[in-house]
Amino acid sequence: MKYYSTNHNAPEASLEQAVVNGLAPDRGLYMPREIKRLPQEFFANIDKMTFQEVAYEVAKAFFGDDVEPEALRKIVYDTLQFDCPLAEVEPEIYALELFHGPTLAFKDVGARFMARLLQYFLHKEGQNDQVNVLVATSGDTGSAVANGFLGVEGIRVFVLYPKGKVSAIQECQFTTLGKNITALEIDGVFDDCQALVKAAFMDRELNEAMRLTSANSINVARFLPQAFYYFWAYAQLKKKGKEKDMVVCVPSGNFGNICAALFGHAMGLPVKRFIAANNANDVFYTYLQTGEYHPKPSVQTLANAMDVGDPSNFARVFDLYKGDHKAITDLISGATYTDEQIAETMRDCHATTGYVLDPHGACGYRALKEQLKTGEVGVFDETAHPAKFRDTVEDIISAEVALPDRLAAFMRGTKQSISLPKDFAAFKSYLLANK
Ligand SMILES: *Cc1c(COP(=O)(O)O)cnc(C)c1O
Repeated sequence: MKYYSTNHNAPEASLEQAVVNGLAPDRGLYMPREIKRLPQEFFANIDKMTFQEVAYEVAKAFFGDDVEPEALRKIVYDTLQFDCPLAEVEPEIYALELFHGPTLAFKDVGARFMARLLQYFLHKEGQNDQVNVLVATSGDTGSAVANGFLGVEGIRVFVLYPKGKVSAIQECQFTTLGKNITALEIDGVFDDCQALVKAAFMDRELNEAMRLTSANSINVARFLPQAFYYFWAYAQLKKKGKEKDMVVCVPSGNFGNICAALFGHAMGLPVKRFIAANNANDVFYTYLQTGEYHPKPSVQTLANAMDVGDPSNFARVFDLYKGDHKAITDLISGATYTDEQIAETMRDCHATTGYVLDPHGACGYRALKEQLKTGEVGVFDETAHPAKFRDTVEDIISAEVALPDRLAAFMRGTKQSISLPKDFAAFKSYLLANK
């Protein structure tokens, strides 16, 4: 399969090139040239398959031309060592719980898949060069990528995160690991971290001195595997006889997750429509209403992993529908919520159903509550375990949230990070001095 750039000004790349390079040379995002539709029998029998079996069929459609079947099967099975169950929150509204992985947020799947695929390509090449993964995080990407790559030989990971803007629990998940993981605390916001990473890929001197790759959701190996979730949600609803008129609602920040869901739809997954639920960072919401996309600086919210003012994957969503605003709005609606609304939703949901939402999932739940029509069945992503935002959640719902063991284990580690300003020159000289 060939991959083209959303800026249409770069040569087509192989999967390996797309994975290793992350961003296309014209600064566009890679898109697969072709999206294969899965056969009817697959959907007819999907309720009799396991999560791993479902995911392997989806992975073959994306990566089957480029990765040997047995290796791909192993990558998928190793990645999915935990379930993504559907929990009924109330009649016709289900939470797709994506927080059962090692770092308790949905990015584990993409990060684990990418680490294994990158290792496969490096191994195949017999390469000895160290590969350096640069990743900007608004909270959960950093922990998922750091843990996904931890101890992987030949790969070093630099996690850039905005100082004071991630929760204590998120921070300890990537600053306490040591080994091949280095945490860089940037004096700025998430968009500054993302800008540093993008600038590093464009810097010739840096790229000649060290082999760089990205693990942000822009990487095809990170974002495409997220499509697995939606096939699995469909399979689980089908088991209950509830798969008709399925509406999928994705709490969105950088739009990688919902973009993967849209790829699933293009592969034939019978989803009736999608909702992109935003916090106060409403650039996409505004695009849906007006047809105009105007990035703006991100604002800090309770759902901090969605504090993105210029979502990278907008370019992919736009490209998938050839920029046709009507096609996009026919399939996707939006929602945007203030912190007060997020808190109110968490309180109400807990009081009426007993289900504890995290601030990101709360946006998804509320959008479904507001937009679901009679006869439809809604699935929203619970993208993180509420204990990842424990203080906030406990304050809001006035109840205790238990800390899962694997989260408590991170908290016992020692924080190690390097402070840097947000200017590129400082970042570059740090990398050159520490390669
Ligand atoms: C990353 C993240 C999101 C946003 O996902 P995108 O793919 O960037 O849209 C939502 N919730 C949580 C908990 C996250 O970590």
